[in-house]
Amino acid sequence: MLKIICQAALDKHERPELLVLPFWEGSVEAADLSHWKHLWGKPLDYGDFKGKLGETLLIYEEGRILLLGLGKKETLNAENLRRAYSFAVRIAHAKKVKSAHFIFPHISLLAKEEALRALAEGILLTNYSFSHLKEDSLKENPVVLLEKAVLIGIEHHDDALLAKLSAIASGVYLTRELVNGNADDVNPKMLADTACSLAKQTQGLTAHVLDKKELKKEKMGLLLAVNRGSAQDPYLITLSYQGNPESKEHIVLIGKGITYDTGGLALKTADNMVTMKCDMAGAATVLATVHVAAALHLKINVTAVAPVTENAIDAKSYKMGDVYRSMSGKTVEVNNTDAEGRLVLVDAITYAIRHLHPTAMIDVASLTGGVVVALGEEIAGLFTNDERLAKDLSGSSEATGENLWRMPLYPDYKEMLKSEIADILNSAGKNGSSITAALFLQEFTGSLPWAHIDMAGSCYQSKPKFYNTVKGTGYGLRLLIDFLERRSS
Ligand SMILES: [Zn+2]
Repeated sequence: MLKIICQAALDKHERPELLVLPFWEGSVEAADLSHWKHLWGKPLDYGDFKGKLGETLLIYEEGRILLLGLGKKETLNAENLRRAYSFAVRIAHAKKVKSAHFIFPHISLLAKEEALRALAEGILLTNYSFSHLKEDSLKENPVVLLEKAVLIGIEHHDDALLAKLSAIASGVYLTRELVNGNADDVNPKMLADTACSLAKQTQGLTAHVLDKKELKKEKMGLLLAVNRGSAQDPYLITLSYQGNPESKEHIVLIGKGITYDTGGLALKTADNMVTMKCDMAGAATVLATVHVAAALHLKINVTAVAPVTENAIDAKSYKMGDVYRSMSGKTVEVNNTDAEGRLVLVDAITYAIRHLHPTAMIDVASLTGGVVVALGEEIAGLFTNDERLAKDLSGSSEATGENLWRMPLYPDYKEMLKSEIADILNSAGKNGSSITAALFLQEFTGSLPWAHIDMAGSCYQSKPKFYNTVKGTGYGLRLLIDFLERRSS
């Protein structure tokens, strides 16, 4: 794990492997850089470096000096700071340096702690690689990540804040590892084992895993139906942390855990299937979130619930046109076996309501292609029946740069989920598909405060961008930790 150190000034004898100097757009120094003016003066005079957000220029004199653009001083915010420092870390990776020194910018628009937090997050989130399967190319071109980042110009700082940011980054890395790993490796059993080992390592964390026999006893007919085409058993994983035993408040986070989604008998095309090992991102996110909440000793009660199975294809696969009974007792006519996420989620929701007594539930799922059509790869859809959840989650989205956009739970569209032969249809087709998926979930949540985050776009991206390094982004973890912090204070 990268270690971040704060230091008042650069030591006279220190020879940084890489020294990063910050500039505002318009070639204005963003800190006192007069000591190095003989190095950066010329490139600025020639107009070769303007200080635009993320602009970099490497100078090889007195070591490696990197000029880094922070963009316009008047429009700087935490997200831009995270983004700017992701470019510096990419240069560090390209040059294979193990430590870098960053002159801390003078920022008037953000509180010092907020600036420190954003800058450290930009560094930590970018300092990740999923490359262990590139065996041949690794021999020639090994990946070198930063092991140490020294922030220069900070006299007083809070070590606890840096430790906290590292714990949160570890949670993001864990989520990314699980999402990026082969579906053959990150299977339902592996996710159950991961939850158990997190519980073993962390004080105050309890894991409980229901196996197929117990799922049958609970009559989780939808999770079992989705699992029928798979050679691997399904599980329902819970991971609990009771950080505030005196309080009755209990937040339950439910994460979709389809470890591979072929679509079942409604088989996906090759193009649509190729990313489907990411369909357990919700489960990875909620398990890692509860682990981080425990590591940070947040004063809150929170449980992750993850229904995990493959949606595979086989002679035993569940069938379109047939009706299956959910744990709640409601019957569902399955008209699309590829709309399986909502099926496993509603059994998990019913389980949570019956056994965990939540005061609020948030489910996180790579649920619909519709949300990607509506909002693209970088914004998740937020659906909720509760204004307090809407306000808190939107605040967390703003604070973390993990984008959310509130979508409507438009009641008239429930009509589209009407079945002639069962209580509800599982899919209402293409139009408004992320909305009808959310309305399907809502049929099972009762009157509890509930939010649904459809992150089908944000959890897995085709190209690296800023501090999202490769494929699995770890989206949602920082958002949920920020939310839990708001609720715990
Ligand atoms: Zn599907």
